[in-house]
Amino acid sequence: LAKQAGYGKLKVFVPHMLDKAVELMTLENDLRRAVSGNEFFVEYQPILSLHDSKLIGFEALVRWNHPERGVISPAEFIPLAEETGLIMVLGRHVLEESCRTMSAWRETMPQAQDLVLSVNLSARQFTQSDLVDSIREILKTTGMPADRLKLEITETTIMENAEAAVDKLNRLKELGIQISIDDFGTGYSSMSYLQKFPLDHLKIDLSFVKRMDTTPENREIVKAIINLAHNMGLQVIAEGVEKSSQQDILNTLKCEYGQGFYFSRPVPAIDAKAYIIGDALAEPEGKPQMVITQV
Ligand code: C2E
Ligand code: MG
Ligand code: MG
Ligand code: MG
Repeated sequence: LAKQAGYGKLKVFVPHMLDKAVELMTLENDLRRAVSGNEFFVEYQPILSLHDSKLIGFEALVRWNHPERGVISPAEFIPLAEETGLIMVLGRHVLEESCRTMSAWRETMPQAQDLVLSVNLSARQFTQSDLVDSIREILKTTGMPADRLKLEITETTIMENAEAAVDKLNRLKELGIQISIDDFGTGYSSMSYLQKFPLDHLKIDLSFVKRMDTTPENREIVKAIINLAHNMGLQVIAEGVEKSSQQDILNTLKCEYGQGFYFSRPVPAIDAKAYIIGDALAEPEGKPQMVITQV
């Protein structure tokens, strides 16, 4: 009977897997075309200082404007780009484009001088041997000051090869670049182990922020993360702030910075520019524009 049930299950399971495989292969082909065809664009999500809600910078987040499927989220294609190695060109493109954009803002707006640009680095990007040289080159050609750039790396990425990671992070720090640990709490690292690495900021994963006001225990977890980070000399950024009550709690817990839909969704460069100047966002709840934004 069990065997029969298992067989029945298999019949349902196989076509689904095939569909999935075909879909992945199609997506991979599309991704190769997209990398050469300029189908990617970058959106910018404001990061604010929580005690006064002042803008301190932006996180660059890549989007794929697929010709048939519309805008696709990075959660869907970054893992595939990582697996196929296409992340190398894509990551370089995001870094270059966002540095160029920030550099242009700096040239035209006094309000942009102190803003910091945060860019995500995937595991494979981080381990590439010419990473430091390639970033130095991008900073030079875009005119972006190193100390206005922050790289976001997950704990899992630096844990994968801790010795090499310490060395690489030190070299990035020597350039003047800041380092954030992204999605903190979702990996397997311990806080004390992180002490080995030259870090500036720790980003609490949005899953913790989301649960924070549901039970006192969850709030205690966030509190513990913030306190430990402070004891290690790191400043803390909370991801996924969606309500004013969350900002209030985070303020009480002395969390320095926040980012989330409550302040703004990730927006195209043109709207980010308006945000810097101090204009209200054109359409905070609107869909991202289907254009590659150049400022
Ligand atoms: P991440 O680096 O943790 O980025 C934050 C994610 O949280 C973004 O999702 C952002 O849109 C989302 N978010 C921000 N505030 C809120 C909120 O209040 N509520 C909710 N529910 N979500 C919020 P996004 O843009 O879909 O990016 C997903 C992930 O894809 C990123 O997570 C990052 O790991 C990766 N990614 C995005 N752009 C790049 C890139 O250029 N390079 C690399 N290597 N990875 C990237
Ligand atoms: Mg990030
Ligand atoms: Mg994150
Ligand atoms: Mg996250």
